[in-house]
Amino acid sequence: MTPVVELREVTRTYPGVTALDAVSLTVEPGGPLAIVGPSGSGKSTMLHMIGTLDRPASGTVLIEGQDVSRLSDRRLSALRARRIGFVFQQFHLAAGVPALDNVADGLLYAGEPLAARRRHAREALERVGLGHRLGHRPHQLSGGEKQRVAIARAVAGSPALLLADEPTGALDSASGAGVLDLLRELADHGTTVIVITHDRDIAATLPRRVRMRDGRIVEAYAGAAR
Ligand code: ADP
Ligand code: MG
Repeated sequence: MTPVVELREVTRTYPGVTALDAVSLTVEPGGPLAIVGPSGSGKSTMLHMIGTLDRPASGTVLIEGQDVSRLSDRRLSALRARRIGFVFQQFHLAAGVPALDNVADGLLYAGEPLAARRRHAREALERVGLGHRLGHRPHQLSGGEKQRVAIARAVAGSPALLLADEPTGALDSASGAGVLDLLRELADHGTTVIVITHDRDIAATLPRRVRMRDGRIVEAYAGAAR
């Protein structure tokens, strides 16, 4: 099977810092993968590389077998829009905009007419358990609900890959556990989910884990429960 993600000797430096130091990683389709490690160890930088939001100083990033350095900016944006969903700690929902349109607007790139975008948005919100909150605006939703809207937006276009950077970081532990259950469920339905977390308890519940330190992967664990 073609790996969903392959990093080959990927390096990213900032002045005075090697944020990623020749990191190689292969992610086959399967259950959620946790990226863990202390603050500053390079987790977000790695997720940006996987998400093609940033280009490496050296090394190769392949998404579904495609070397992204060979794509024009336009083709790269298309790949990102169609194949990769993003979820961040701070939801990034548009204020004052109903949940349905927050999700539907995430599908603008796909070029579907508004009615189709709204239909897909409704289906995605139903999948995350928010079918009863379509008209709610972000300020009328709890933190956990906001993150579910963000997840619905990320998966409405059926991406191959869902990337989440500390998705439970702003949530109480019960809402966080709910969001994790949801990410696991999405992974069961064929989306490869990669989650950054500094929470070891959360990481321990996920079937695959890599541990980072000083820009390197220091431990990789891929459990049988894939
Ligand atoms: P983590 O997500 O594990 O906390 P990051 O990937 O954000 O780590 O950062 C890794 C290293 O790269 C850190 O030393 C950080 O200070 C540095 N870094 C990250 N982004 C930038 C940036 N835009 N400019 C300068 N240094 C950065
Ligand atoms: Mg980070």
